[in-house]
Amino acid sequence: LNAISGATLNPVQRRRNIAVMTSGGDAPGMNANVRAIVRTAIFKGCRAFGIYEGYSGLVKGGPEYIREMNWHTVRDWLAEGGTNIGTARCMEFKEKWGRLRACKNMIDAGIDALIVCGGDGSLTGADRFRGEWPELISELLHKQEITQDQYDRYKHLNICGTVGSIDNDMATTDATIGAYSSLARICEAVDYINATANSHQRAFVVEVMGRHCGWLALMAGIATAADWIFIPEKPSSRSEWSSHMCEIVAKHRARGKRTTIVIVAEGAIDASLNPITPDDVKDVLVDKLGLDTRVTTLGHVQRGGPAVAYDRELATLQGVAAVEAILDGTPETPSPMIAIAENKIVRRPLMEAVKLTKSVAQAIADKDFAKAISLRDTEFTEHLRNFMAMNSADFDEPSLPASQRKRFAIINVGAPAGGMNSAVYSFATYCMSRGHVPYAIHNGFSGLARHDSVRSLNWLDIQGLLTTGGSEIGTNRTTPEEADLGMIAYYFDKYSFDGLILVGGFEAFTALSQLERARAHYPAFRIPMVLVPATLSNNVPGTQYSLGSDTCLNSLVDYCDAIKQSAAATRKRCFVVECMGGNCGYISTYTQLTTGAVASYSPEDGIPIEQFEQDIDTLKTSFNNDKGKEKSGRLLIKSARASDVMSAKVMAQIITSEAHGRFDARTAVPGHIQQGGVPSPIDRTRAARFAIRAVTFLEDHYDEIASSQDQLGEFIESPTASNTACVLGIQSSHVKFESIRKLYDYESESGKRSRKRIFWKDIHEIADMLSGRVVV
Ligand code: ATP
Repeated sequence: LNAISGATLNPVQRRRNIAVMTSGGDAPGMNANVRAIVRTAIFKGCRAFGIYEGYSGLVKGGPEYIREMNWHTVRDWLAEGGTNIGTARCMEFKEKWGRLRACKNMIDAGIDALIVCGGDGSLTGADRFRGEWPELISELLHKQEITQDQYDRYKHLNICGTVGSIDNDMATTDATIGAYSSLARICEAVDYINATANSHQRAFVVEVMGRHCGWLALMAGIATAADWIFIPEKPSSRSEWSSHMCEIVAKHRARGKRTTIVIVAEGAIDASLNPITPDDVKDVLVDKLGLDTRVTTLGHVQRGGPAVAYDRELATLQGVAAVEAILDGTPETPSPMIAIAENKIVRRPLMEAVKLTKSVAQAIADKDFAKAISLRDTEFTEHLRNFMAMNSADFDEPSLPASQRKRFAIINVGAPAGGMNSAVYSFATYCMSRGHVPYAIHNGFSGLARHDSVRSLNWLDIQGLLTTGGSEIGTNRTTPEEADLGMIAYYFDKYSFDGLILVGGFEAFTALSQLERARAHYPAFRIPMVLVPATLSNNVPGTQYSLGSDTCLNSLVDYCDAIKQSAAATRKRCFVVECMGGNCGYISTYTQLTTGAVASYSPEDGIPIEQFEQDIDTLKTSFNNDKGKEKSGRLLIKSARASDVMSAKVMAQIITSEAHGRFDARTAVPGHIQQGGVPSPIDRTRAARFAIRAVTFLEDHYDEIASSQDQLGEFIESPTASNTACVLGIQSSHVKFESIRKLYDYESESGKRSRKRIFWKDIHEIADMLSGRVVV
């Protein structure tokens, strides 16, 4: 540890004594945030302190509540739910005298910077504290409670906020720490409820958290294909909501659906701001539709349990960014809040975020609901529109005029990935709401070439699809050229497809490229085509995210937590975990980051022998440092293709032999559980978003490609034409469509089945830093 600490301060940064606190409601991932803050601070040569029990600990002060934390204090915190340093709601801190005590306690402990992980209330408190700091510290000097030296040393306080809240209610950030774990708990519960509802043909009204924000209800509604949702941002009058809801539910029942799920946010209201309770909804379903209806209030189970992979990642990266922000802070810098925009960790002005958040509540109180919605991030608005289009749409009256309705097809290609079924479900329901006819091509391109495997999708048949893993319409790895391009063109003609969505990984990428290049010879392929990336390897050029990789990471995180526990129980044991990922180190790197493994080995970097030797040394030191009853398991993550020579077994044997009896190593190979069972809520909701964007892409580009031929029917190659065959991807902070031609020629290494640019190098560095790995 000494070898790495303090090495990386830049010339304008100075060593700080940084305290971290969790405040407000607890949220899964807070521990990961604290771990990252403590270890980054130490790595940077700073001292790290934990303030226990939120602001209440700060007001009380002393060694019981303000404790210096070392590297080992936060070991294994990634896997733990809640917050280990405690949280509280503290009235005293809202009073000036409370903040004066807090100021004195911080100075006594030698702290000059504070990171608060909490909701808008906690961050408001932090900013107020900072704004008042000069006045507080002058008062302490005046009362001679501190010395002039202390005054000079602690004159300026820097603070930074990270947002821990399961409600995802903070403006200017796409996600708050804990929200996706809470969503996972909700979806798990609703999936279970759906099974019993199906058995008895019952209706269930499920209440979820969200006092001022409908994010959890909305996302759960999409991820579980709920029939109706109630959120504070979009109320209607009682007569409106009851008749509209009953109309939709009745239509779903008439089409043969056996279940009804209605999700109600805790803060749901009607247009007159009267609360809508689950019992109100139940009464309407019973009285108007005669449905056997039950109410389930999920309650605190939504806060419980370990954080999902995404929250561990978010909390960790934000923890690192928070320490960086503190170190960059000057007396003049406005307090920052660490946010995420799509996939990018960014700094936002804290008070602006708090002000915007409060203005949503104000807009609702003023009954300005359009404003309340507009103040939520754009993704929220998009998800809400999507929910309405998929679940509350009237398919008898589609939104497009008959002349614009098309025949669109979807095909899954390559290995199964979590979210493939969700994409098919969302594609089909959205097409129906628009008036298009959705087709599924079963069993990939070879299925089509050999067996004419095209079926139109029926609404009732796809019920339940959203929440299942694998690929119900089948999938295989055969590319169109291998299967028979001519036969595929024949069937495209036979069904008069007007557009195609491919869902898959690198094979789908190759397939799209082949179809696009074959347009000159086969007019059937002169239709818009788009690839929705879906592969746990996340190796598709043009996107930093693929469906299935989140589900895979979650299964690996669960697996590694269990393995680590077993290793800890045996003491002195480490596991070499072999994970999938093809030629791409994304999964191994993120597994290291989210499980706290000592090291990871990727296909891109291989297993350099000196590094492996160093890692064994790190393991030796780390096991040596285990004192008395303190016990912990250690993991090394090896991507299956990191090395042909060094198998996981060989690595474990070398480690055991080098350890000379002080500890031993075993292998653990999770295998195909990584392809996931039930898709994660992230994969389900992103699948919906991507599928709908993909259909919109087909609609928008139909005319362009149709006009790319001359009067003799010869195809005219042009940038406009190639822009009608694209990969949909998330890049940096945007959803983008990039031409397959460009990506194939410039961004892919087709021999290696991977992208040229690796975007997670810095993630690897952070994972190494936080695990205490010495990189040679
Ligand atoms: P959640 O989103 O879970 O409710 P929160 O951070 O918004 O989290 P609050 O109860 O609003 O939760 O705030 C937590 C604590 O922050 C309060 O108990 C109080 O100690 C402090 N706090 C909140 N608002 C202020 C304020 N205006 N001034 C000083 N301190 C405040």
